[in-house]
Amino acid sequence: MAIDLHVHTTSSDGTESPEKVVFKVRNAGLEAVSITDHDTLSGVEPAMAAGKAIGLEVISGVELGALQGEQEIHILGYLLDHNDRTLLEKLGALRSGRLGRMDKMVEKLRQLGYPVTIDRVLAISGHGSVGRPHLAAALVEAGSVETMGDAFKKLIGKGCPAYIPRYKLSPAEAVQIIKRAGGVPVLAHPGLDNASSMIDELIPEGLQGLEAYHPSHTRELASYFERLAKRKGLLATGGSDYHGPGHKEGCFIGASSVPYSVLTELKTRREHHSAN
Ligand code: AMP
Ligand code: FE
Ligand code: FE
Ligand code: ZN
Repeated sequence: MAIDLHVHTTSSDGTESPEKVVFKVRNAGLEAVSITDHDTLSGVEPAMAAGKAIGLEVISGVELGALQGEQEIHILGYLLDHNDRTLLEKLGALRSGRLGRMDKMVEKLRQLGYPVTIDRVLAISGHGSVGRPHLAAALVEAGSVETMGDAFKKLIGKGCPAYIPRYKLSPAEAVQIIKRAGGVPVLAHPGLDNASSMIDELIPEGLQGLEAYHPSHTRELASYFERLAKRKGLLATGGSDYHGPGHKEGCFIGASSVPYSVLTELKTRREHHSAN
């Protein structure tokens, strides 16, 4: 039986509610899912409740962005205590950083003559963790670009005129925050971010896995990371990075799924480090 360990919901930049995502995961025939929204755990409880109602296992998760020099990486945290005070405070600070940065990006776009407003962007993001996909949606809605992809390509992608970086943790901090909340840290989509060089540095910090299977990885790359994980004593995980229909090609629920045994291993690793 297969599981999906990487999905987003309206709690961050996904376009479907935690309940809807859980329902779709069950309908895709999967056995478990982790909700891994950016900088928030607010989707976890509603997803767990929905999962309970329909008999699908839902485990807590989060995705944190981190920066070392020019290198941006994403770290997934699994099975963390989603009520951990310190963790919730840190995530709150990261979300405030997102908000301030979004204000600046909107201001920049307005100076460039694009009719977007922060109110509209926040209306699109709802209560969730605000991100560039919400801004991209506002730009599409205003008729300034045709697709969200165009918004990233022309205006808000890294290096584009309205791009402003957001505050990010260091990779070591991201790993530690997850560990302190009892979670298991895994390096997300290492192929997408060209993050191989970070792996050796993060193992002593407590990194436990590599997301070998991800829609952005070719089959060859996935098996390369699978072998690398084995060699380094790490767990090879996988997930779809689903953000809703039509968000990114190939990122459909159940894409890059992994067997249930990967979740069993995650649970074992969690117990092991909480016993230490
Ligand atoms: P942010 O966290 O605000 O910097 O925005 C990053 C998010 O934007 C990622 O998590 C993806 O969901 C999304 N994203 C990045 N690049 C693209 C792209 N080219 N097209 C659509 N969405 C993208
Ligand atoms: Fe995202
Ligand atoms: Fe990511
Ligand atoms: Zn993601």
